[in-house]
Formats: sequence, structure tokens, C-alpha cells
Amino acid sequence: MTSPIRYTIQAVHPAAHLFEVSLHLDDPDPAGQVLSLPAWIPGSYMIREFARNIVRFSAMAGGRTLKVRRHDKHTWQLPAGINGPVTVNYTVYAWDLSVRTAHLDQTHGFFNGTSVFLCARGREGRAHLVDIRPPAGMEDAGWRVATSLPEAEGEDGAAERYGFGLYRAPDYDALIDHPVEMGRFSLAEFDACGVPHAVAITGRHDCDLRRLVDDLKPICEAQIRLFGEPAPMDRYVFLVMAVGEGYGGLEHRASTALLCSRADLPYVGMDAPGEGYRQFLGLCSHEYFHTWNVKRIKPAAFVPYDLSQENYTRLLWAFEGFTSYYDDLMLVRSGRISVADYLGLLGKTITQVHKGSGRRKQSVAESSFDAWTKYYRQDENSPNAIVSYYTKGSLVALLLDLRLRAESSGARSLDDLMRALWVRHGQTGLGVAEDGLFALAAEIGGAETGHWLRAMVEGTDELPLESWLKRVDVNLAWEASATGVGLGVRTAADGDALRLANVFDGGAAQAAGLSAGDVLVALDGLKVNSGNLDKLLTRRLPGEEVEIHAFRRDELMRFEVILQEAPRDTAKLSLAEGGSPAHRALRAGWLER
Ligand SMILES: [Zn+2]
Repeated sequence: MTSPIRYTIQAVHPAAHLFEVSLHLDDPDPAGQVLSLPAWIPGSYMIREFARNIVRFSAMAGGRTLKVRRHDKHTWQLPAGINGPVTVNYTVYAWDLSVRTAHLDQTHGFFNGTSVFLCARGREGRAHLVDIRPPAGMEDAGWRVATSLPEAEGEDGAAERYGFGLYRAPDYDALIDHPVEMGRFSLAEFDACGVPHAVAITGRHDCDLRRLVDDLKPICEAQIRLFGEPAPMDRYVFLVMAVGEGYGGLEHRASTALLCSRADLPYVGMDAPGEGYRQFLGLCSHEYFHTWNVKRIKPAAFVPYDLSQENYTRLLWAFEGFTSYYDDLMLVRSGRISVADYLGLLGKTITQVHKGSGRRKQSVAESSFDAWTKYYRQDENSPNAIVSYYTKGSLVALLLDLRLRAESSGARSLDDLMRALWVRHGQTGLGVAEDGLFALAAEIGGAETGHWLRAMVEGTDELPLESWLKRVDVNLAWEASATGVGLGVRTAADGDALRLANVFDGGAAQAAGLSAGDVLVALDGLKVNSGNLDKLLTRRLPGEEVEIHAFRRDELMRFEVILQEAPRDTAKLSLAEGGSPAHRALRAGWLER
């Protein structure tokens, strides 16, 4: 029997943000054990080079220090010919308050395994045991541990639920897919379809936990029922970090790590969910949906992940886009938000896609493939160059859903496609081929539907939103901004000043020579500040010329700008008056459960 890989991890110096980790291996590779740290974390498609945070590294065998060879930025090799156990000690600097890496101070600790656990290459399939120790010198601080990593039942020193001690993962892939939070968090527990769920909230907050549970439970149950019971996990944990300003989430097989603004959490006495709380519930719903879609149903390109480099797939529109479609849809279907609120959210998504001309230059298949260098590394030109596989992908999902429903008189829908993916890929572990979604859409909706889906995914034509929304008696109207004229820019406050964040292709500002980064000083001799541009532009007409002064770096420049008509790119959705019973029935099947 092969022996497990053993780790200990301890917050040795919270004020210096240092975790001390040791890895113990009974039988290192006699040819020279290779150890590596992932270059990226699944779910966040960017090379992050986590090994850069390892600040000290040593290896010991038989009481002596080993000479370690470096191969590249994330790989270490122990000497050949070691026939006994080896222990590797290293320190990890943890000061990134995000869901993707690790963070430690005197108030709490958080880590993803991808940041702290070296992989013993060739031994990934063994059991991995982790001893999570209380923070050094703070044993009485009342810290607990929240994680979906299973406690190492039956082992000496096995952790109890929410306690420090020994945890166990069946293999390395699982080890790095259960983030760990430690600190003095608030905790709420609930069951969804018989599966225990927990929410642990770290950071200062006044969250109404009962309200949160009352809202999360129906969302989780709606998703479990969509894919069919039993749920694929025995337990699920929402790890929430509440901060002043922040937003983010990362999905895992039995948990999610979330970062949110404390003002977005529900409070005692809150009535209907406000915009912030709706967004937070949407985020929870999104990451939870990933439990099936991307954590178990995966692109073939991710089976298995190669954590040393980029893993290319043209399918993120299906894994992120379809998940983005279902996140808000599950809120309305589970009765958390009204149909009017849902249409408002859908209108916002449509507007986001239409704000940039990138949608006419890049398809969502291309956007998926280039996620590593484009979507995840956006710059001032991104609106002109790329389309989001999240937002446009969710509109593709909407259209496919509406078409499947309309053409089958409500008998079939995207839910059937998701269930087929779950049965054929999620439950079997077989990855989805790059053109697998087109084949499946054809199987469920007919060959024509497959071709139509491919054209939307691989092409850059405008999506046929109006015509398919009509089939469920929803009107789509386009509105322009209030001023009636536009410069063709997106601005950002820079203290009291106004900076151009993006300059859109074909817009008035670009035609006049203004660039992203320019700081506006005056419009027709009147001072521009961070809040008055719209005011200065009202009463102006398309075709009028205005004089703009702006600083580019430290040089004052003058521009003659011919104002353009503001584009009608803001989508407003509404329920059609009257309407047909058939359309109403389709809409009920779509939005109600
Ligand atoms: Zn996602």
C-alpha cells in the first residue's frame, strides 16, 4: 500500500502574512523527486505564478539538508538516490485579499491549495493528509476552520467539524479544490434537498444570517432539482469574506470562495432585496451552478487540468456564459426576485454586450480561447477589441433556451440540454468535445438549431434578441443616454478630475484625437470636473463642434470635437401588453417553477 502525502500548515507569523508549510513524503522518487506549484487556479484563466510567493525553501532527509535543483519558476527537484522519508519546509507569503490566492493577518487566514501545497509529481493520485494547525501564539484567539475539505476520520488527530486538526483529500486534484478559511467567522447551516450546507462569513458585517439562509436554500434546491437528485456533493460550504468594497467569486467542487461588500449582505428588517443583495445572491447562485457546470461537466481540454501552463478551450461561453444565464434565472424561478427585476437584470446584460464594438470583432469562441491574454488582462482598448464570454455567452444561452421552448411548444428547453450534459459528461467524467454543444443542441432541437447555435458562437453578427423575446411576449426597446449627444467615451473620476477610461472606435472623441488616459480640463472654456460632463453636454446637438482641452501626461492639448448622436445602446425589457396565451404559457415555463 502506498503511503499518503502529508502536509502541515500553520499561520506562523500572521502579522508578516506567513504560512509555514511542511510536506512529508515516505518514498520520494529515487530518480529525484520533482515538486511543483500550479501556475494558475482552475476557474480563473490567467497565469498567476503562485510560486513567486514562496520565500524560503529547504528539504531534509536522514537528518541532513538536501541540495535542491530548480528547473523553472514553479518546479523544484530533490537529489536522486534518496531511499527514506523526506521533509520539505517552505514559507508562503499570503497578502492578496482575493478569492484566488491566500491572505493572512491577525484577523483571519484564507488559502487555496494552489497557493500553498506543492505537488509531489508522479504521486498525485495518492491520498493527501493535511494537518491544519492553530495560528502560532494565538491559540486562545477563538479561531475556527471552515472548509469543505473532509475531516480525516479514523486518523489520529482527525479534525472535528470547524476545528483545527487533520483533514484528508483522496488526491492532489481534490486537495487544491477545497479552499480553507480560518478565523472568527459567523456561521449558518441549512439543508438543501437533504444535503448539509454552511455559510461562513469573515470580516466585519451585520448580516442577517436567517434571511440569507431563507434566500439561499430555495436557490440551491432549485439547482439540485434542475440537474436531478441526488446532488453530486455530500456537503457544501459558502466561504464569504465581507469587506468595504470588493466583489468576486471562485467555484469549487463542494464550496465557493466569495468576496463581497458588507453593504450587499442582508440586514435585519430588510424588505425586498436591493440591488447589492440581488447581485450577491446572483453571485452565490452563479458559483453554486458551477458545482455541476465546469467542476464536473468540463471541457475535454480540462480533463485533466495541466496546471503548469495555459489550457485552451473555445468553450468558456458554455461554461461561464450558460452559468451566468442560470445565475439570475434561478433567482426568479425560486421566487427570490420578481419577473420585472429579472427583466431589468437581463436588460443590463444586453446593454453591457452592446456598449463596446468588440462584439463585432471577436466571437465568444475566440474570446474563450484567448481568455488568458485578453479577457483576464483587459486594458483601455478592450471594449473595442473583445467580447465577454460571460455576458454574450449568457445571451446565447437565453436565445437557445427560448428557441428550444418556442419550437417544441414548451416541451423542451435548455434545462434538458444541461441535464444531458450532466448525465453524459458530469456523471462519467468524460470531457465535452470542442464542438460537443452544437451536436447536443442539434440532437435536442434539430439540425437547424445546431447550425444556428454555431453561427452565434463562432460569428460576430448581432444576436436576434428582439424576435425571440417576442415569442415570450417580452419587448426589447433601445434607449440613448439622457444628453442626446455623446463623445464616445467611458470616463472615470480621477480625484476631482475626469479621465478617459476608454475611447470607443468610431466615436467623436477618437475622431478628434482624444485618447484613453487623457484628463479632461475644459469644454468650450468651462472647467470639466469628475461630475459635470453630462451637464456641459446637455442642450448640445449632434454635429455641433466643441473645444476640449485635456492633459495627456503633463502636456496640455486642444481638440475640436464634432458631437455625435448618443448611440441607442441601452436595452429596456418589458412585458408586452395583451399578448397571446401561448406566449404567456411559454414565458411561465421559462420563468416560473
Ligand atoms: Zn463563473
